[in-house]
Amino acid sequence: MTNTVHRVGAQEQRKTPLCSDYLDPERHLALTHSVPAELFINGAWMPATNGGTYEVENPATGEVIATLANASAEDAQKAVDAAAQAQRSWAATPATQRAELLHRIFALVQRDAGDIAALMTLEMGKPYDQALGEVTYGAEFLRWFADHARNIGGRYTDAPEGHLRMIIRRRPIGPAYLVTPWNFPLAMATRKLAPALAAGCTTILKPSELTPLTSHKLVALCQEAGVPAGVVNLLSSTDAPAVSDVVLNDSRMRKISFTGSTAVGRHLIKQAANNVLRTSMELGGNAPCVVLADADLDLAVQGALDAKMRNMGQACTAANRFIVHESIADEFAQRLAERMGHMQCGFGLEPNVDVGPVIDARALDRIAALVEDAQAQGATVLCGGKRIEGPGNFYAPTVLANVPADAAVLREEIFGPIAPVISFSSLEEAVELANNTEYGLASYIFSQDIELALDLAENIEAGLAGINTGLISNAAAPFGGLKQSGTGREGGVEGLDDYTDTQYLALPRGRRFQP
Ligand code: NAD
Repeated sequence: MTNTVHRVGAQEQRKTPLCSDYLDPERHLALTHSVPAELFINGAWMPATNGGTYEVENPATGEVIATLANASAEDAQKAVDAAAQAQRSWAATPATQRAELLHRIFALVQRDAGDIAALMTLEMGKPYDQALGEVTYGAEFLRWFADHARNIGGRYTDAPEGHLRMIIRRRPIGPAYLVTPWNFPLAMATRKLAPALAAGCTTILKPSELTPLTSHKLVALCQEAGVPAGVVNLLSSTDAPAVSDVVLNDSRMRKISFTGSTAVGRHLIKQAANNVLRTSMELGGNAPCVVLADADLDLAVQGALDAKMRNMGQACTAANRFIVHESIADEFAQRLAERMGHMQCGFGLEPNVDVGPVIDARALDRIAALVEDAQAQGATVLCGGKRIEGPGNFYAPTVLANVPADAAVLREEIFGPIAPVISFSSLEEAVELANNTEYGLASYIFSQDIELALDLAENIEAGLAGINTGLISNAAAPFGGLKQSGTGREGGVEGLDDYTDTQYLALPRGRRFQP
């Protein structure tokens, strides 16, 4: 840790490092080497049982930045044993102690915010400022669920017939398997880990093999904060199916919380059925952004940029389809193209970079194919529309106008910096277009008529709606999708429900005292 420390009176105030503090390649090496490279099982870092390792690459340069232990089925079994063994004592740990642990992890994440952000930029590609934003967002789940660990609650009531007293309590559901994607390496982990720990569940975290370093760092901070052995276990692996088979087929596991693609989610739901696990599924999205004729265009264009370009378009909440009233569609598309065409692409630890690379070559090919398909069907490219030469997986921010209804770019989750614009003439048509997808995660509406915007939001099939804003996510909000975007909610007071079971205790009402 090389954060500058300023002394203010008796207090220490840390200044968050700048991206330029991390630009030196020597510094990258020091940073990635400071993160434990092994698996964390039963309170100890250890190599994979079979000695296997794998490499992690920087998507902006293609360089290998770390070599980590590669868990196999045997390691998965050890992690399940540890999580199962620790469950009873963790569940019995007073809520105040669980809350204090989460507060300590929160403080450590704050302390190392710069390092965590730089790690995310290195392994995932997002610009450093956005990575710092994710640290703030991700850390808030730790604080939010620390505050709620003490308030899990229950109720005491009477049977309607009067012969029973009824105690209804919530108990931890049990060992939880937490599987995260590569696009928000910190926040997707804390959004699962924090409610699980708050509720009294032990955990096995399996990060994406593309961006595991942030999770290794987070688990190291959990260890520093004093998490008891077996309560947090970490399985990094390139063989997710082998690891998941072992975890999901052990009847001591009680829960899977998965964030990732709908295709993998579907498969895991089927696997989870064998042991009737509780499932939380945060899956893909295809968010509509509806811009009504009366929208404040400055606000709508800024909101569109926020909703589209955060994370280089690689967010499940990313606006995928801009559905704009025909009277302003051309102007909206031109103004969006003007802004997106001027965004600076590059390695996110360089100053003034707005847009990083997409995650890998496969993603780059998929995005290029979506644009080519739209163009072949008659769409117009207003800016971008091409790969950026050189090392790394860069695609130029692209606005497509006049996109035909059949274009794949409107049906599939784009997961890249591509903004297709289509127009509508009536509100019915706008809602029909918005709902014309199997997904139902986020939606955005821009209008100065708030009552109308709310009417639309209620009729669009999505778990989340941003009205006159392109940024919705918050630790205090229940995040989750409708339709094939998933089940369950993360964050908010609802976030704890996914990690607790309701238990009912009946007590006969005696007759020893009657007034
Ligand atoms: P992915 O489905 O390929 O992988 C997600 C995780 O599942 C990774 O850890 C991966 O190793 C693991 N995995 C892959 N195949 C598996 C298998 N057969 N068995 C068990 N585990 C397996 O998704 P991704 O490419 O990492 O992430 C992008 C997807 O995640 C997008 O669809 C995006 O919309 C979605 N996402 C959703 C949310 C949400 O909250 N709804 C948030 C972020 C990302």
